Amino acid sequence: MKNLTSIYSKKTIFVLFSLLFITCGKEEPIGENNLILKVAFDTDKNSKIMFYDGESEEEMTSEERRYEIGKVLKIKPIDDTTIEVANFAPVDIEDATIIAIIDIEGVETEIELFTITRIRAHARGELKYPFVEGNTEFLDVNGNTVDLAQFKTSGIPVKEINFNYSGTSELITKLKNSQALNWKFKYHNYDPNSNPDNNWADEVTAKDFRRASGIMINFGYIVLSEEYKTTFLAEHLFDDNLNVLTEEDKEDVYQRLLAKGEFNLGKTVNVGGLASLGPGRVLGFAENIYRDYLVKASTADLKAHEMHHTLGFNHSSNLTYPKTVEGYDGKVSAVRVAIEV
Ligand SMILES: [Zn+2]
Repeated sequence: MKNLTSIYSKKTIFVLFSLLFITCGKEEPIGENNLILKVAFDTDKNSKIMFYDGESEEEMTSEERRYEIGKVLKIKPIDDTTIEVANFAPVDIEDATIIAIIDIEGVETEIELFTITRIRAHARGELKYPFVEGNTEFLDVNGNTVDLAQFKTSGIPVKEINFNYSGTSELITKLKNSQALNWKFKYHNYDPNSNPDNNWADEVTAKDFRRASGIMINFGYIVLSEEYKTTFLAEHLFDDNLNVLTEEDKEDVYQRLLAKGEFNLGKTVNVGGLASLGPGRVLGFAENIYRDYLVKASTADLKAHEMHHTLGFNHSSNLTYPKTVEGYDGKVSAVRVAIEV
């Protein structure tokens, strides 16, 4: 896979690097809502870390650890009075306002439920609804006061409340941008019995999964960029039968990528990556891809190769490997936006 051009220019890599390592550049107050409770999940006393080194594989690959790219800050009701807050991003998130969308007959509202001043990367915590333990007045998203006193004792049924988050920091803006993607993740060990006849790793570690969240958030961020979309749609592409994709075909492939749905992520050995041929959910990367995705442009080719497998393209198509095309000038790669690499 050497010498391939890549969708990752140096500039893009820098932008992504910023996404993951600059947590908050602003010191502005979080708006005018002085009714709102401020909560932190930033110590071992108020939160626990998911995917810590040595955590059991069963825990890390459990249903509880499913998350969506658009909701890496995942809020989930545990029961009618208690919720769980979990940060699936490999970076601290600051100044996030949690929005509760309540849909009960007579009370249909979106309120600012509480603010997270800071939640550590991969931290998970629990809290009682603020209206159960404290003040029952909240502001809705239009600035009107809403009194939830009627729920102080009963709480709110799990099925009648949903959550989102908002914030003005650069990081939150970037993370929220990914809500344009329908990508969901679950982690797997595809070789629990250490079968020597496959290329799945015998063991998966917490570090692999911490990196997996980063690699997919970055991938999503790239895919949604105008630069990626424009270049992808301008590319000369053909399928496994060497039929050239029309403009409509390419738009369809791009939209299918955005709408991909569930990814079941694992770890490979011997090969850079593995994927189930589309419409496929299984996607795995090797140690060096998980390790170097922010710093080596060549990892982008591998990732695009595997992702395009999940969309149904195999090795005859240039959506997986660059090809020399007769009558077309030079090699064509489906996965490139060659700028500075
Ligand atoms: Zn392949």
